[in-house]
Amino acid sequence: MRLKDKVALITGAASGIGRESALLFAKEGAKIVVVDLNDMGGQETVTLVEAMGGQAVYVHANVSLAADCEEMIRAAEQRFGQLNILFNNAGIMLSGDDDAVATSEGVWDLTLAVNLKGVFLGCKYGIPALRRAGGGSIINTASFVALLGAATPQIAYTASKGGVLALSRELAIVHARENIRVNALCPGPLRTDLLMNFLNTEEKRQRRLVHIPMGRFGEASEMAKAALFLASDDSSYLTGSEFVVDGGITAAYVTPQ
Ligand code: NAD
Repeated sequence: MRLKDKVALITGAASGIGRESALLFAKEGAKIVVVDLNDMGGQETVTLVEAMGGQAVYVHANVSLAADCEEMIRAAEQRFGQLNILFNNAGIMLSGDDDAVATSEGVWDLTLAVNLKGVFLGCKYGIPALRRAGGGSIINTASFVALLGAATPQIAYTASKGGVLALSRELAIVHARENIRVNALCPGPLRTDLLMNFLNTEEKRQRRLVHIPMGRFGEASEMAKAALFLASDDSSYLTGSEFVVDGGITAAYVTPQ
């Protein structure tokens, strides 16, 4: 088991990448703190972990609020005694997110508050806990859009993910000698609610698929496997990386048809 006796806190674990990671990490021996706003989905993730014989607890937290982030870390240490893995994964992609002219200030502020400030706050309160545990692994979910521009605009989302990537690099350097590794997971387009609700017509989906050399959307379970590598000692010499798992998008100039 690759995460035996480890405690992992995963934000956005009521669905998608977060839930799949909770299940996989638990299978590998970790105790899971499931964090989300969606109480029903979060509880369901706990039930699924427990059904596999694992241990998990649900904590309701809005990652854009400092008090909630402080409390989720406190809850992790109180319930399981320590924190070893912090997976800042919660994120939103709002339907009103467009180009600079069309995007409202409200959409910009909310997107940055959840996707970028949420990661900052997770680290702000999580890093002291990782120090208390003697070190650990932080995984921040960025995106391939942190690396490449898209003709389908989503300016707030893209800016937020660029911020997550830059922030992750700096954290990796600052905390490298404290045995705390920090890596940014950069997924390609996935077949999860987040993207499928945004690309809400077959035409929009096909427009995106054209750019993916593998010719399909990724699965949340495929990101969970990458996150497991980053969380575990298998990646013990890896920090500050942009860990790209994208079906080949960032390697492509022209995609095969
Ligand atoms: P998802 O919508 O299935 O899961 C996101 C989860 O975050 C949801 O359970 C949601 O309730 C939760 N959440 C939203 N706002 C929150 C808040 N303020 N506080 C706490 N929890 C909150 O989507 P997913 O695809 O699994 O996305 C996970 C991460 O992966 C996100 O950061 C997303 O930006 C990123 N990502 C997704 C894709 C994709 O194509 N789906 C691609 C690249 C990156």
